[in-house]
Amino acid sequence: MSIQISCPHCGKRPIEEFTYGEIPRVPDHITDPDARNVDRVFMYTNPAGVQTERWFHLYGCRRWLTVRRDTRDNQMSE
Ligand SMILES: [Zn+2]
Repeated sequence: MSIQISCPHCGKRPIEEFTYGEIPRVPDHITDPDARNVDRVFMYTNPAGVQTERWFHLYGCRRWLTVRRDTRDNQMSE
């Protein structure tokens, strides 16, 4: 059974219907705007634990939702 994501508009749906987007956190000591943009786009933190993510329901309502996911076991909460 695949991982299910609870969409507030469509209910529980299989993860294959969504695309993933991590909400990046750029360190405050990086002040150059170009360097901040590079960090924001390419430098994923990939922590071992709970992180906040944005998922797009591509094959459903086509809306964004925010999910808290534990990367160790993929348990999700809203
Ligand atoms: Zn949806």
